[in-house]
Amino acid sequence: MNRLDSLRRRLKRLKTDAFLCTGRTNLRYLTAFTGSNGAALVSAEHAWFFTDFRYKTQSAEQVKGFQIVVPPPAKDLFKAAARVAKQNEFGSLAVDANSLTVAQFEDAQQTFQGIDLISTREVIESQRMVKDASELAAIRKATAIADAAYDFILARIRPGRTEVQIARELEAQMLKLGADGLAFEPIVISGARTALPHGRPSTKRFERGDLVTLDFGALFGGYRSDCTRTICVGKPTSEQQRIYRLVRDAHFAAKEHIRSGGGCRAIDKVARDLITTAGYGNQFGHGLGHGVGLDIHEGPRFSKLGKGKLAAGNVMTVEPGIYLEGWGGVRIEDLLVVTDHGFELLTTAPNPARIPVV
Ligand code: ZN
Ligand code: ZN
Repeated sequence: MNRLDSLRRRLKRLKTDAFLCTGRTNLRYLTAFTGSNGAALVSAEHAWFFTDFRYKTQSAEQVKGFQIVVPPPAKDLFKAAARVAKQNEFGSLAVDANSLTVAQFEDAQQTFQGIDLISTREVIESQRMVKDASELAAIRKATAIADAAYDFILARIRPGRTEVQIARELEAQMLKLGADGLAFEPIVISGARTALPHGRPSTKRFERGDLVTLDFGALFGGYRSDCTRTICVGKPTSEQQRIYRLVRDAHFAAKEHIRSGGGCRAIDKVARDLITTAGYGNQFGHGLGHGVGLDIHEGPRFSKLGKGKLAAGNVMTVEPGIYLEGWGGVRIEDLLVVTDHGFELLTTAPNPARIPVV
């Protein structure tokens, strides 16, 4: 089923005459439009796409199955959409609460006066959770690029070089290997700084005995990858080895429960229980994983608050971590696609039983 048909089925359940799509990423998903200013209005029978003069040609090339409306410069897209909604005698319109600011919602209430605006959440987002073949192909490519860049960068980490140098080289290598951009600013941190789950690369130099955490991903065809590895500069201590093994055990234990129908909270709990039993529950202060796609963090989520069950086609990270202030941290993150009976691993970077040493 195509994306428009799938949205229309949801519209029926929302009991509204049409859906107004405004968020940039949701709009890209629904219409393939990559520009910065657009809106889509979808009813049971018809679909309109609104954009400004700058995107007239681009939208004609990208947006299929929608009637394209380019209002005159003085008229904004909401006004153009309201005109169409009134012409079609829509009584109610679902709007996407996650994509509108309070100010935009207030403006919309003025512009669409006489039409009920119904605030909805996650309508397109829930559609986006299940990836189709073309989306998976893009994510596979992004993952392959990032994995190859990781392989390249390992040999360049040595005492005296800095976190930020390695981060810039990792970025450059992903671009050289064909990435359209970065999935996010890579994290390259070392020593005690590895206790910062989302630390930024600094001018700190690597020292012998440092743990180094690299969290990175590539962007390809609009889709993202996400991988974390923790390594050691020189020989690791038994304590570093022990924490690494614990995180890795939690990572693999959780993976064993991943399949279509698996509960998101239950899967988080598998890893969390293992880490908690070992005495580090409070040092694993984030969810086990998240969906990845057009956005780096999207649904579903593996966490204590995670809702719902996995479905085949969900692309998920599994990334337990332990962070000890003043000492350092370990996180190991893979990307996978959920299948009916388990999962297919997308990450190909090695995930060895003992800390990788450079
Ligand atoms: Zn990551
Ligand atoms: Zn992640």
